Amino acid sequence: MSELFEFTVPVLVVGGGACGCIAALAAAKAGADVLLIEQDERPMGSTGMSQGLICAAGTKAQAALGIEDSAHTYFDDIMAKTKGQTDPVLARAIADHAGPTVDWMVEALDMPWDLDKGFRPAYGNSTYRVHGWHGHSGQDMVDLLHRRLDDNGVDVMTGAKLVDVHSDDEGRVLGVTIERPDGSREDVGCDTLILACGGFAANHAMVAENMPDVAIARNNGHEGSQGTGIRVGEKLGAAFGDMASYQGYAMLTEPQGLPVPPGVPVAGGILVNIEGKRFTDETADIAGMVHPVLQQPGDYVWVIYDDRIEAEVDYIPEIIELNKLNAPRFANSVEELADVLGLPHDALAATLADAHDAQARAEPDAQGRIWNQDLPPAPRFRALKVVGAIFHTQGGLQIDGQAQVLRPDGTPLPNLFAGGGAARSVSGPAHWGYLPAMGLATAVTFGRLAGEAAARLALARETA
Ligand SMILES: Cc1cc2nc3c(=O)[nH]c(=O)nc-3n(C[C@H](O)[C@H](O)[C@H](O)COP(=O)(O)OP(=O)(O)OC[C@H]3O[C@@H](n4cnc5c(N)ncnc54)[C@H](O)[C@@H]3O)c2cc1C
Repeated sequence: MSELFEFTVPVLVVGGGACGCIAALAAAKAGADVLLIEQDERPMGSTGMSQGLICAAGTKAQAALGIEDSAHTYFDDIMAKTKGQTDPVLARAIADHAGPTVDWMVEALDMPWDLDKGFRPAYGNSTYRVHGWHGHSGQDMVDLLHRRLDDNGVDVMTGAKLVDVHSDDEGRVLGVTIERPDGSREDVGCDTLILACGGFAANHAMVAENMPDVAIARNNGHEGSQGTGIRVGEKLGAAFGDMASYQGYAMLTEPQGLPVPPGVPVAGGILVNIEGKRFTDETADIAGMVHPVLQQPGDYVWVIYDDRIEAEVDYIPEIIELNKLNAPRFANSVEELADVLGLPHDALAATLADAHDAQARAEPDAQGRIWNQDLPPAPRFRALKVVGAIFHTQGGLQIDGQAQVLRPDGTPLPNLFAGGGAARSVSGPAHWGYLPAMGLATAVTFGRLAGEAAARLALARETA
């Protein structure tokens, strides 16, 4: 087969989102020659649609702000959130390596990630653990990563879609076929292959097959998430894990299509249906909350918040953009809010009164929400119309703690690695195990581990 390839690269990375870029940079910094291919002319991926937030423990940024955290605590949080049903090997790898990976991004790649103190411990993270680039979006992250690829001399081929993979009888990848936008094809050989080509949330048939409960929801992930990694893995005899797992999102604004940041409900925002009633504890489950939203009468629900809550989240790019688009509705009283949103006055008044009474009594409200020091919305009110959506899938290729892809019998495929959306994550078997900012945590952490392991293998092959 090797004579079919015009050229062969030591490390070939598929996908130019966070996982692929970090994998390529890690492999290059470890001394390997790398080629990254990306199907789009301008890289974006789900990473580009994200807020660029990464969940990581034991970082220097946490220490600088006096936040005590450790791999041990992070591991316990992951296991608790997933009811002990995630792969403990992968959970351990994320708990141990996400923090050092964020530190490495800051120090070795000069990426300005810092602890986001606005993202309070919530939805399963027991402490401040979410890191981001203050005031910047996921597309800024992608653009910066591609600048770093350039700085580090990594070859990047855009408009290059992987359409086939070639292997020997032992499942060793020999190379891939790439298709260009004009339909022309070329074969490229590789010593190691890293699949960083995202999940399958945009592939409706795969979503309907693996997670039929959410097949009616809108996909708000990147259109390139078509399940390429799964297809390649099937051909090579890989194992898969948690294929029914995904991150849904309950608060995609209609019609702007921008996510309402989790900080809005965490700081006191509530969800109200077209009957003026709440229907869930808005602080319980960031991903699973999509289910009660999809079950409400009508096509949408409202996020109700206020000027106080706005002041806590007004630095977040999505909120800035929503304000620019005049998306929020405003009201100075409950009656006015009911009029503005077209909701029944009495029901909305009772809903807000129940939350305020529960907060004052320091008891759980009718939805089981415990308010502590947070206050339910009060005048001046703000409201955003939202729908439920699927953001990205959490199941995929079964990898080990070094991001190497495994067969069903647990043995590794010789030279295949995966991370991010292409691989099994640490969110357990369904929608309820997702910790905030875990999508990018698995992308950058397994990306780095994959890049380093692939480089070691490729360099050993060169010197053999
Ligand atoms: C709206 C939104 C907000 C989010 N916010 C956050 C957040 O703040 N924090 C967080 O942790 N997670 C967040 N997520 C999830 C997070 O974005 C993903 O988990 C993460 O970006 C996955 O990274 P990745 O590199 O694996 O995939 P991607 O970023 O999707 O990159 C995969 C790339 O592979 C390319 N590709 C696919 N198939 C091929 C092929 N055949 N050939 C060549 N190239 C191919 C795609 O075009 C794409 O560029 C969010 C998701 C969405 C949709």
